[in-house]
Amino acid sequence: MAVDPLIELRDVNKYYGELHVLQDIDLTVGKGEVVVVIGPSGSGKSTLCRTINRLETIQSGQIRLDGQPLPEEGKALAQLRSEVGMVFQSFNLFAHKTVLQNVSLGQVKVRGRKKDEADQRSRELLERVGLASQAAKYPAQLSGGQQQRVAIARALAMDPKVMLFDEPTSALDPEMINEVLEVMQQLARDGMTMVVVTHEMGFARSAANRVVFMADGRVVEDRAPEDFFTHPESERARDFLSKIL
Ligand code: ADP
Ligand code: MG
Repeated sequence: MAVDPLIELRDVNKYYGELHVLQDIDLTVGKGEVVVVIGPSGSGKSTLCRTINRLETIQSGQIRLDGQPLPEEGKALAQLRSEVGMVFQSFNLFAHKTVLQNVSLGQVKVRGRKKDEADQRSRELLERVGLASQAAKYPAQLSGGQQQRVAIARALAMDPKVMLFDEPTSALDPEMINEVLEVMQQLARDGMTMVVVTHEMGFARSAANRVVFMADGRVVEDRAPEDFFTHPESERARDFLSKIL
């Protein structure tokens, strides 16, 4: 690969008790790359995301972020978590804080920014996700699509090296999916490194540099989107695509 690696997983194995949930995973994500992860439910996509910011531990193998092994604990781990932005299916905003406070809080607590500086940065990011006029509202006053865009702004406020998205549009009403995907498309165009678990194949085709297809805890295919969608090599991928396309 021509680009510098940002995330490297080598021979990663993880078990939940007897369940071998990640099996010999080798995966590299280069700086500025957008990698879309797809695969059947239960194939280990969420677990993969969670191992990258060490919400989950692994039993063997190595994970490096920007050349460094993931820290085990303490300040270094908190630092890592802030450098790996995560956006989940559920928006997880603080219900009793305004939109602005939601985006500013981590900047003050984790990044040590002054409140004014944090608020300034929050307003820039809210502008970027199209929510400049909603800063004073509470999450419950926003639509699902707007809440998810706040969650994206909040993660970006920590100046992450990479953004992980785990089915960010799966909980949204259909008419709100595009407004979130458009923000993600723009991020991709701006050069953000992204790992995106999604069933939105239009997004995969237009924004991804690579598609990683997982099944039963393994990376079965890892290819350019146009190759993957037109000529899936594995029976598993053909079967999966025939069900969703
Ligand atoms: P996906 O995101 O592809 O649907 P997951 O990574 O969520 O898959 O789950 C992979 C497998 O691991 C599934 O069989 C799931 O039931 C199991 N699993 C996920 N989290 C846990 C957990 N905390 N404890 C035990 N099993 C789990
Ligand atoms: Mg999942």
